[in-house]
Amino acid sequence: MNLILLGPPGAGKGTQARTLVEERGMVQLSTGDMLRAARTSGTEMGNKVAAVMDAGQLVTDEIVIGLIEEQLTTTESTGGFIFDGFPRTLAQADALGELLARVGQKLDDVIEMRVDDEALVSRITGRYTCGSCGEGYHDTLKTPAKEGVCDNCGGTDMKRRADDNEDALKTRLMAYYRDTSPLIGYYYAKGQLTSINGLGEIAEVGAAINAVIEK
Ligand code: AMP
Repeated sequence: MNLILLGPPGAGKGTQARTLVEERGMVQLSTGDMLRAARTSGTEMGNKVAAVMDAGQLVTDEIVIGLIEEQLTTTESTGGFIFDGFPRTLAQADALGELLARVGQKLDDVIEMRVDDEALVSRITGRYTCGSCGEGYHDTLKTPAKEGVCDNCGGTDMKRRADDNEDALKTRLMAYYRDTSPLIGYYYAKGQLTSINGLGEIAEVGAAINAVIEK
């Protein structure tokens, strides 16, 4: 089972991907996480993309396709892959199809998570994650039982993303509508797209995703 979670920044792709990893043993391939890891470890590529990411623009197709290629050719996953934040352009979508074919795999589902823009702004500007285990939280929508302490691992190093501010978000949303939303038509035409309401509670959205996977 290989699946794309498609949706604007703040739609909840990462949150749902984490649940799928825990419940179904799938492997999450998030190009955003890979790029942030490259920045943190200070690789040449990481340094090159830092300013582009902070401004909310897309990094080049070449870089992200290379990252996905590396993962697909070196990672085993019996549960399958969840593509989170990739593909984001038509060129990336074509490349993903070719890469999957090359490793003898195929795409099973593309799930579009629909969330209106107002909700995205409040979701993004309030979100933070545990720096130790990656669990996601939100100032009002999902707070840890004890303020500043991760429910999942007890970590206290909570982090906010540099690009989770209103200015960068505007650019990220524009990039989504201009470069990524054409993928909705692309996968619809291939008969692979299912759209779900991404606005509900985390568990409700999860149930909608499970229904698509099990259909
Ligand atoms: P994300 O964590 O998916 O919101 O990604 C954070 C940032 O990383 C984006 O705003 C882009 O700058 C960059 N990025 C992540 N994935 C891609 C992609 N598939 N194509 C281009 N840029 C990406």
